[in-house]
Amino acid sequence: EEEINAYKKKHRIHAIGADVPDPVVTFHQLNGDYGLNQTIIDNMKGCGLETPTPIQMQAIPVMMERREILACAPTGSGKTAAFLLPVLCHLKTPQKNGFRALILSPTRELAKQTYRECMRISDGLGFRIHYINKVSTAIDKFGPKSSQRFDILVTTPNRLIFMLKQEPPAIDLKNIEWLIVDESDKLFEDGKTGFREQLAEIFKACDSTNVRRAFFSATFTYDVEEWCKLNLDNVVQVYIGARNS
Ligand code: ADP
Ligand code: ADP
Ligand code: MG
Repeated sequence: EEEINAYKKKHRIHAIGADVPDPVVTFHQLNGDYGLNQTIIDNMKGCGLETPTPIQMQAIPVMMERREILACAPTGSGKTAAFLLPVLCHLKTPQKNGFRALILSPTRELAKQTYRECMRISDGLGFRIHYINKVSTAIDKFGPKSSQRFDILVTTPNRLIFMLKQEPPAIDLKNIEWLIVDESDKLFEDGKTGFREQLAEIFKACDSTNVRRAFFSATFTYDVEEWCKLNLDNVVQVYIGARNS
C-alpha cells in the first residue's frame, strides 16, 4: 500500500474514486492480470512503446475493470493507447454484431490519427476499424442492410448524429460496449454548446445495458468534471501532474 502510494507520487498519478485498481508498471503485466493479447503488446513494442506512461499506468487498469473514467493528462502523454488497449482487450476478436466501440474526436484530423493508431496497435487481429469520411458512403456501408462486420468506429460527433437521425437510422449503436469521448474539454468548449445535446443523443443510441463510457482530455475543466460526476456510473477520476495544468 505504502509502496503503491510512493509509486503514484513519483509518477504524479492522482486517482479519485471508490476501489481504484493499482497502477501497472509494465505492458507485459496486462497479459497476466487482464488477459491482454500478446500480439497487442508486441505491436506496441514494435512501435517503440515499451513502458507505460503515467496515464497508461493508471487509466488502463481502471478501464480493464470496466469502470467509467474521466482521465486528464498532458498532450502527448499517450492517452490514445490508454483507451485503445482496454477497448481492444474487451472486444477480444472481430465479430459481426455491428460496432462495439465508438470513439468520438473533436476534429476529423484527430479522428484519422486515432484510427491509424488503432490500426497499428491491433495489427494482425483482424478487427474492422472505420471512420466516417463521407456520410453518403457511410449510410450504405453501415446501414441496416450492411453486413455488420464492424468492430470499432472513430468519428466526429456531427456526422454520427446525422446518421442517427436518418429514417430509419443509418447506423445501429445498440451493441456499443465502450464509448470513448476523446479531447472532451474541446468538445465541451464555448461555441460548441450543442455538444451536450449531441452527447445525450449518442448516449441514448448506445442503449446496451453494459455500455461503459470514458472521457479523456488534456486539461482539467470544471464543466466536464461536473458533467461526468453527474452522468457517469461510479466514475474514477485520474489526473496526471497538477490538476489545473
Ligand atoms: P495524447 O493523446 O495524450 O496527446 P498520444 O496518444 O497522441 O498523446 O501519444 C503521443 C505520442 O506518444 C504518440 O506518438 C504515441 O505513439 C506515443 N506514445 C504513446 N504511448 C507511449 C509509450 N508508452 N511510450 C512511448 N511513446 C508512447
Ligand atoms: P463534423 O463535425 O462531423 O466533421 P462537418 O463539419 O463535416 O461535421 O459537417 C458534417 C455535417 O454536414 C453533418 O452533421 C451533416 O449535418 C451535414 N452533412 C454531411 N454530409 C451530408 C450529406 N451527405 N447530406 C446532408 N448533410 C450532410
Ligand atoms: Mg489525444
